[in-house]
Amino acid sequence: MEKDVSNNQDKALEVLKALKKIYPNAKYYLNFKTPLDLLVAAILSAQVSDEVVNEATNGLFKEYKKAEDYAKASVDDLMKHVSKVSFAGNKAKNIIAACKILAEKHRGQVPKELDHLVELPGIGRKTAIVILTNAFEIVPGIVVDTHVIRVSCRLGWTKQKNPEKIEEDLNKLIPQRHWKEVQWLLKAHGRAVCQAPLPYCSKCPIEELCPKTGVTKRL
Ligand code: SF4
Repeated sequence: MEKDVSNNQDKALEVLKALKKIYPNAKYYLNFKTPLDLLVAAILSAQVSDEVVNEATNGLFKEYKKAEDYAKASVDDLMKHVSKVSFAGNKAKNIIAACKILAEKHRGQVPKELDHLVELPGIGRKTAIVILTNAFEIVPGIVVDTHVIRVSCRLGWTKQKNPEKIEEDLNKLIPQRHWKEVQWLLKAHGRAVCQAPLPYCSKCPIEELCPKTGVTKRL
């Protein structure tokens, strides 16, 4: 049994090593300078491309620097910058509500504890891990986004459907020193080759390493 676990881990590490060579510049894509910038960008990022979020935050971050600035703003104020983002109204409300809590309970600072982050409106576990990992170099788990779900299932790294269960499987399979880069690499591969709905297995550079679990049609 233990041998199986270490075999699976060796195979997963081989895939990660190959992906690192293929995508040497894979990184977190949302622009930010401060933890607060990242918190705002991460709230905006659900179900929208990184490019749209980066375009919106370009002007937003010039005008809003502190949690108190957002806390005092109205939804209409934020909409001037974020109207092209999907669900912009709800996300603007969440940003304002989250920043009011930061101003009142955390001296305007983004907390470094997962438990405190998930108490903020618009922030679930995935977003909290994104913030901790990329703003503070605290990596409590692997970020499981839509690309990670799709690609890790096809790679046979998990059989789960629920993101938190997938994260548990990946956290067990992948050594902690690699957790930060897993999302970047699987996202890069998911965008370029292992796409939804059909993966381009015929031009996939890690084809020989992949069991293609659940793949019934491919390009
Ligand atoms: S072989 Fe196909 S399913 Fe596997 S990673 Fe490549 S594109 Fe995705």
